[in-house]
Amino acid sequence: MKNSFITLIIFISLSINSQAFSQNLVTDFSKIPTEFKYKDQVFYKLPYAYNALEPYIDKETVMFHYDKHHKAYFTKYLDAIEGKNITDIEDVLKNISKYSDAIRNNAGGYYNHILYWQIMLPEGSNIPLGKLANEINKKFGSFENMKKQISDAAITKFGSGWAWLSVNKNGDLFISTTSNQDNPLMDIISENGNPILGLDVWEHAYYLKYQNKRKDYIENFWKLVNWDEIGKKYENLIKK
Ligand code: MN
Repeated sequence: MKNSFITLIIFISLSINSQAFSQNLVTDFSKIPTEFKYKDQVFYKLPYAYNALEPYIDKETVMFHYDKHHKAYFTKYLDAIEGKNITDIEDVLKNISKYSDAIRNNAGGYYNHILYWQIMLPEGSNIPLGKLANEINKKFGSFENMKKQISDAAITKFGSGWAWLSVNKNGDLFISTTSNQDNPLMDIISENGNPILGLDVWEHAYYLKYQNKRKDYIENFWKLVNWDEIGKKYENLIKK
């Protein structure tokens, strides 16, 4: 009797372990996510593995954020523009007052998260150089000062939204926040411009690891920022 009880316990623990093992096989966090297509459109490909932003942003958060939240904005955006002969998402955003709330939320969500993934670097942050560095010093006094202003804007943003560093039509840098999935490209936003850095402060961006400590998430976000990429975006915009 005792032996069969032990056998049963061993059997149960083995099957629990094998379930956990197959769960891990479903998501290999060390791999770059595979290509995803919907309605013949290719979803933005994450340029690094789910675990590449560890320890600052954990692999589970990246998986849910990219595979669930971001992907859902993409598919819902394509559903919302079905039959509308739309090709350029930036065009849609710049004229968003003419479109439905479904297009506004999902075009914003799709676009904003691409910027967010693009401006992070698994190897950790570098520093602004060249023209961008000069402009930051001119406008904000110093790089540290600018980061503090963006952090303060992000920390105090009420509810779900984003903090931005953008370039306005005169080529000047400015810091702003928007609610939900709005962004500075949208014609309904008064502080209008092209965002070059987007910091997601929706709870889904940090809650698994940081819970209510948005400030800690923001402090760690700075350790991942790819200023080379932001500098390229800045130089392309001021050329126009
Ligand atoms: Mn998000």
